[in-house]
This record gives sequence, structure tokens and C-alpha cells, in this order.
Amino acid sequence: MEQDFYRDTPEMITSHYAEEYEQYYNAIVPPIFMNSLNVFPEIDDYFDAKVHHKHTYVYGRVQNPTVRILEDKLAALEHGVAAFAFASGMAAATTAVLSVVRTGENIVCIRNAYGPLKNFVEKYCPVHLGTSLTYVKGNDICEFEEAITDCTSLVILESPSSVVFSLQDIEAVCKIAHARGAKVYIDNSFCTPIFSNPLDFGVDIVMHTSSKYLGGHSDVIGGVLAVREETLANTIVANRELFGGIMGPMEAWLVMRGLRTLSVRVKAHEETAMQVAEFLENHPKVDKVYYTGLKSHPQYELVQKQQKGHTGLMTFEIKGTTEEAKKVINSLKVFKIGVSWGGFESLACMPHMRLDEKTCQWLGGRQNLIRIHCGLEGADTLIADLEQALAKI
Ligand SMILES: *Cc1c(COP(=O)(O)O)cnc(C)c1O
Repeated sequence: MEQDFYRDTPEMITSHYAEEYEQYYNAIVPPIFMNSLNVFPEIDDYFDAKVHHKHTYVYGRVQNPTVRILEDKLAALEHGVAAFAFASGMAAATTAVLSVVRTGENIVCIRNAYGPLKNFVEKYCPVHLGTSLTYVKGNDICEFEEAITDCTSLVILESPSSVVFSLQDIEAVCKIAHARGAKVYIDNSFCTPIFSNPLDFGVDIVMHTSSKYLGGHSDVIGGVLAVREETLANTIVANRELFGGIMGPMEAWLVMRGLRTLSVRVKAHEETAMQVAEFLENHPKVDKVYYTGLKSHPQYELVQKQQKGHTGLMTFEIKGTTEEAKKVINSLKVFKIGVSWGGFESLACMPHMRLDEKTCQWLGGRQNLIRIHCGLEGADTLIADLEQALAKI
């Protein structure tokens, strides 16, 4: 059998796979299809068009060629049968929940999941769907044993979580969940498909925000769901059409452009972040560093099992008050203060700053913690910036 070079490696997938060169005059980069509909020679052709079939396009809320190419790449990157692109990470996440969970069922979710998604399953779903919610810390498999019951239909993971970088044993959670008939969802935005492929561990739905590393240039909002099973794929694509949350063609094209360099970018972020994490860990004014690349990570063995790498995001706590941490963050010059991460630029924020002590304890990180994203400006520059800012306290 001939070797399928095109989907052999992530780099080949992001470079060439699914580009359909022959469809588009052999252009090396596919066009942006800025059309809202497609037309047909006869009315029967319109009705016969298999809407979800490859190369059959009817209406832009359902499918678009530029979006489809991106989705084929993402499905291959995540080792899934299909992937679907959405207008935002939250559009993807909420569509996933609403595609699995029914009235009255139970959702199990880790405490450190993405905040807006927790709002959705904690505040919106109980009121509108009568669902119940069980939070778990996530680092102890016995906790999942207890929390997941026959009423549970969905388990929500994020490994590592993007503030305190705690992991869940993905394979073990999937075994427990599947034994009780529940599906497992994971936010894989931190690792990207380059460093982790959770479908291989048994996960049912992998979610990404493409606003972070997949896009990679801080110029696009988008989201992705990848699945390993056809039935769920069909439900999700039908619901996306219903809710109307498809990604726009311009955004799909931008994410595809970002994907071309995903592999080299995440490795560059990782190389920089390793140096920054080691600098911080050895700094006398720093109390604690949360980064999956450090040997001091409390789940280092699990990190080795589940992740091939670590990207550029980490958190640290200073030996000092929240006021002093504010002084540090406000003194940074290269790191800009702002939410988000995954772009070319270095960013810093204090996600727990305005939370009360009890909530901070529940989440497992102090009020004074500073989260930084190490961009592509170079490790020496970033370390010098942190050095001068820490010198202010
Ligand atoms: C930003 C983010 C999201 C949400 O993505 P949007 O594209 O902003 O809707 C979800 N999960 C994580 C971990 C994120 O950082």
C-alpha cells in the first residue's frame, strides 16, 4: 500500500492535508469562500444535495469549503472521525454540552474548568434543563468513582487546567465514565493537538478554542469540537446548524494560516517558558510556580504519560501580598496586561485577584497568583522583564 504522506505527521496535516488543490486551480493556499449560499442547475439537485457530505455545499450556516478544509485538518490532527468549527470556543463548548446532556441528568465537572463554561453548567443548565452538577477537584481518581453515577451523562475535563495546571488521569476517568454510560469532554486548548491527543485515551469530545494557540496570532475568535464516533458527530453537526454557531470563512482561513506554524510555534513557546519557569522557581521572591514542564509539578509522572510538551502558559505566586503582586504585574513592560493567551505576544493577568479567600482555596491557587503567557519575544527579554518587575517589591 502506498504511504499516505499527507496525514502521516501533524506537520504534513497542517501543511498539505485536505487542501483539495485540484478543486481550486491548484492554488497552494485555498481561497476564502465568502459566499452565503450555493446555487443548483435544477430544483431536484438542490433537494438531493447531501448537506453534510464532503464537497456538497448549500447554505453557509451549514457548511462552507474553507471551513471544511480546516475541519478536515483538525479531525486528522486529533485522530477523530470529524471536527467542527464554531464562532467561538464557548459556542463549541455549549453546543457540546447541549448535544449530550438531557433534562434532569447529571454533569460532573472539574473545579478548575474554564469559568464561563462553569457558569453555563452551574447557572444556565440547572434552570433551563433541570440538570444537576457535581464538582470534583480532579486530581484523585477515587473522587470520580464517587461522583459519576448512572444519572451522569457528561464529564467535563480540562487537563491541565489553565490557572493552576492540575491534571486529570484521562484514561482512568474515561473508563469509569464509560462504565456508567457517560461521555467525556475535554478542553485541550493548552496542549494543542501537537502535545496531546485525548481521543486516543478514550475521550468522546475534544474541545479547542482556536482563539488561543490554533489561531496563534491574537487576531481571531473561534472554537472546535473533534469526536471519534459518527453518531455523536452527526448530532453535533445537526445542532450546530440549529444553534447557528458555525465559524465564518474568514476566521477559518485565519486559523488555517495559524495552523501552518502550530508545531514550530508551540515548541518555541515551550522552550522559552521552560527557561522562564526555571528562572521564577529559583527566584527568592517567588513562592511557587505552576508549570507542567517543571520536575516539581506534583503530578509529574502523569504529565509524562499524557503530554508530549508544555507550551507557554504558567502561573506563579510571589512571597508577598496581593498588593505586592499588583505592583509586580503593573511594573511589567514586555508582558502586557490582558486576558487570553496563545498568541505571539507575552501577557500577564491575575485571575484570582478579586476572588474571596474561600473561593481561592476551593480553586487551589492564592489570590496573589500571576498567570503569564510566554510569547515569542525571546526568553532573555522576558526574564529581564520579570527580573526588573520583581525588583520593585
Ligand atoms: C479562552 C478559553 C476558552 C473559550 O474560548 P473562546 O474562543 O474565548 O470562546 C475555553 N477554554 C479555555 C481553556 C480558554 O482559555
